[in-house]
Amino acid sequence: MFKQQQTFKKSVSFSGVGLHTGNAVTMTFKPAAADTGIRFKRMDLDEQPEVEALVANVVETTRGTTIGKGNMRVHTIEHVMAAFHAMGVDNAVVELDANEPPVGDGSAEPYLKMIAEAGLVEQDGKREVAQITEPIWFKQGDSTVVMLPAERLQVSCTISFPVGGMDSQYFSLGVDRESFAQELAPSRTFCFFHEVEHLMKAGLIKGGSLENANIVRGESVLTQGGLRFRDEFVRHKILDIIGDIYLLGRPVAAQIIAIRPGHTVNYELTKQLAQKAAKPAKPPAAPAAEAAAPAKTTPPPISDAGEVDSVALLKMVPHRYPFVMLDRVLKLEAKKAVAIKNVSINEPYFQGHFPGHPVMPGVLQLEAMAQCGGIMLLKGGENAGKLAFFMSADNVKYRKPVTPGDQLLIEAELTAQRRNIGRAKCTCKVGGEVVSEAELMFLIHG
Ligand SMILES: [Zn+2]
Repeated sequence: MFKQQQTFKKSVSFSGVGLHTGNAVTMTFKPAAADTGIRFKRMDLDEQPEVEALVANVVETTRGTTIGKGNMRVHTIEHVMAAFHAMGVDNAVVELDANEPPVGDGSAEPYLKMIAEAGLVEQDGKREVAQITEPIWFKQGDSTVVMLPAERLQVSCTISFPVGGMDSQYFSLGVDRESFAQELAPSRTFCFFHEVEHLMKAGLIKGGSLENANIVRGESVLTQGGLRFRDEFVRHKILDIIGDIYLLGRPVAAQIIAIRPGHTVNYELTKQLAQKAAKPAKPPAAPAAEAAAPAKTTPPPISDAGEVDSVALLKMVPHRYPFVMLDRVLKLEAKKAVAIKNVSINEPYFQGHFPGHPVMPGVLQLEAMAQCGGIMLLKGGENAGKLAFFMSADNVKYRKPVTPGDQLLIEAELTAQRRNIGRAKCTCKVGGEVVSEAELMFLIHG
């Protein structure tokens, strides 16, 4: 590692659009005196306010890291911060004429090019690398980040998403200038297709396009020029971590183990690190914003007959809140049942599955199908009052993610019944499209 602090030899500029706001923006990296740290400066505002890139100034971590002071905000700083952290830029003023850096291609490469063009010069001040003496960690829902003592920065990361085509990915790297430039910097940000419309409505990713993000849609990745690495997504997550922890204000030497990380957990870990690393901690920043409220659902298609309301339904299924996965049964016949479930943001599982990225767990869709199949089997006179035990599930497929605001239409069709065993083919649909399906077997008991 470098012993002396560094800054730029000269100023360099780069123009483009911001990822989330879509605003045209010019960013200039400028040299700064020793012990200045990294500061972002809004040239477009009166009095050109500055904000230090420090964890105490983080004001939002929804899909990106935002710092601010007063009313002034700078969004999506993490890729610039990652490049600075890895390349050893200790002191810099980042001038912007809008509220976030230009996204470039969604990776850190444009910023590496700027750093290379500006050149780096050693300064009088000594660099203080932050280290810890005991582990720290932060866990929220399915996301966990752990930091262990180490002599150098090493990051290991695992990600997985319940979306077709997005396998679990694992990557681990000792971070230095070379490894960052070769293995991490080219990896681009990504999002899921189903998020795009929602994000656009929420005013996010206005500047997003295939030029600066990979978009995962079902089994395929919409991308320009193909993926840069087979595991580009997990590499990008590591890039984000390197940027977010640099909000400590000093380079970090530690081993980080991250499972499904995101900006919120990265921020919380850095906040703890700021306390452990013996600099006086400032008051905590505002909590991260929650996911947007669900869209209103459309009224369900009402069938001609056999409708069961929620009160009657509770007499038919043994389940109780929060495990009744059906709101209303639209049709109940000897060989077919149709039910609906309005998937609300208030479902208890969305808190942890996943923060900022709510997705209905596939197993709960399976449970909804099982409950729908169960009431169908119990409808027949001879089975009334009995219980249907869910015995097995075959050919379970999750085709599309289900998110808050969706209305699940659950259909079960009896395919075979012999003595006390029943089989049903079940599907969950949203907006007419199948999101999950399974072949279920039940034991009728009682
Ligand atoms: Zn990122």
